Amino acid sequence: MKTIVLASGNQGKLREFAQILAAFQVVPQSQFNVPDVEETGLSFVENALIKARNAAQHTGLPAISDDSGIEIDALKGAPGIYSARFAGVGASDEDNNRLLLDKLKAVPDDQRTARYHCVIVYMHHANDPMPLICQGTWEGRILQVPRGENGFGYDPLFYVPTHDCASAELPPAVKNQLSHRGQALRALQAALRVS
Ligand code: IMP
Repeated sequence: MKTIVLASGNQGKLREFAQILAAFQVVPQSQFNVPDVEETGLSFVENALIKARNAAQHTGLPAISDDSGIEIDALKGAPGIYSARFAGVGASDEDNNRLLLDKLKAVPDDQRTARYHCVIVYMHHANDPMPLICQGTWEGRILQVPRGENGFGYDPLFYVPTHDCASAELPPAVKNQLSHRGQALRALQAALRVS
């Protein structure tokens, strides 16, 4: 079975990747003592490439990484690639959500449009000149008050118009069907079948 190193220590991500790439052995980079790399890119694609290249370089194995975040129109696309650290380095999901609600407090519902993005990169090796780049986007709106207990990050504030609820109110399997990450993962699965 071919081994692929995952450039993340996140258990949730490891589970999702391992599930969808069942034909491969997906191993987190921590098992190879890969040092974290600074995400110095200015786009999701650049940051995903930086992380996958770092993991491939340190292990000599094919590597996968993902980078994701939320883009809010009323904030000119912020927080974007800075979604995890919107309220500062080490900020909790609650800190980020509170700051977001504060910044949008004067913005009416019809102008609270937003979308999640996810980019997944697969590099055959560290010098791969043609990495696979898969992506997904999920459109929604930012609520006025948090709703739901599922998911993570901005999910309690992300209204899903097709299902008339917050993303945090969706069962995980439904979220996977709809989400930016689910879309990107399925695209990767299809791309790897032919690569
Ligand atoms: P990263 O891809 O691990 O760097 O995460 C980016 C950040 O974007 C997360 O910390 C969350 O704040 C946000 N984010 C990305 N995907 C989701 C999602 O599916 N739900 C909620 N927040 C998300």
